[in-house]
Amino acid sequence: MNKFNELLAILKSNQSFIITCHVNPDADAIGSEIAMAEILTQLGKDFKIFNTSSTPYNLKFLDPDNYITKFSTEQHAELIQNADASIFLDMNFLNRTVRIEAYFRKFEGTKICIDHHTNPENFADFAIIDASKTATGEILYDFVDEIDELEFNEKIAVPIYAAIMTDTGSFRFPKTTADTHEKIAKLLKYNLKPEEVYDSIYNQYKFSRVKLLGETLHTISLSESAKVAYMIVTQESLIRSKAIESDVDGFVNFALTSKGVEVGILFFELKDGVKISFRSKGEIPVNKLAEEFGGGGHLNASGTRLFNVSLQEIMPKVLSSADKLVSK
Ligand code: 5GP
Ligand code: MN
Repeated sequence: MNKFNELLAILKSNQSFIITCHVNPDADAIGSEIAMAEILTQLGKDFKIFNTSSTPYNLKFLDPDNYITKFSTEQHAELIQNADASIFLDMNFLNRTVRIEAYFRKFEGTKICIDHHTNPENFADFAIIDASKTATGEILYDFVDEIDELEFNEKIAVPIYAAIMTDTGSFRFPKTTADTHEKIAKLLKYNLKPEEVYDSIYNQYKFSRVKLLGETLHTISLSESAKVAYMIVTQESLIRSKAIESDVDGFVNFALTSKGVEVGILFFELKDGVKISFRSKGEIPVNKLAEEFGGGGHLNASGTRLFNVSLQEIMPKVLSSADKLVSK
């Protein structure tokens, strides 16, 4: 049996599901959850979606039925315990569910992981992890495409389109192939307006986010090698600009836009630690850099969250490692 038939058999042999994704969810995480919700609906299953973070405001349009609930221990811990199976999307380390991790560790039902990141933890009973795919949403596309009992419709096409569009940097990252575009061509047949999806995600930010971006760009500096550009978001600047954590998503890409820069880094001071985002050009493996600091990700986009460290402590260490990476 191939992997997708196996997945179908597992979905069919359970009735109640919990769906979740990583902290600070992006459009691939949210889109995959909503596509999976529709898949389970088509199979006549019951499901709940619990996330550790709230849905960023620019991604709420992907969840028109309000399926997604922010996890609360008092209200939801028992619901998780009682479900037959849980599905983890766009993540392959259980610590990426942060506040829910402890409940999933205790979970006795079937754990299913569908993802496209490298270096998995292998916590699941069944996993489809394919790092060659542009997005977790693309794996769900392949699943729906292959299984006769499942069909594409608008409810699946929009979130999968959003997942692939965002994780390919709007169809420009190296994993984007003719095959990707053929899948997109099929999705476009389901009453999907690319300009509306793009506009909802990228052109509806709060003014405070754009102000914070301006402030962040002002902090840009080059490392010793001059091949690494980095920027800083402090708690103070976040609070002053009245922005929220998810507003900072995407800022790191600006660090990579000048000639000669091969790695871009964003240091984001959290209340209880630091989040670091890495981006690179070409073959420079920033996933290795993130792994060195306890995180992970992809060749050209990776990150980590460190608790109980300060910007002052961590920045010189990370910059020195990044300089070593670009001089190899
Ligand atoms: P971003 O910098 O946009 O938050 O994340 C870029 C990519 O890095 C994500 O798609 C994810 O693969 C990876 N990533 C970000 N933060 C973490 C983290 O804390 N742990 C792990 N394992 N991967 C992360
Ligand atoms: Mn993804």
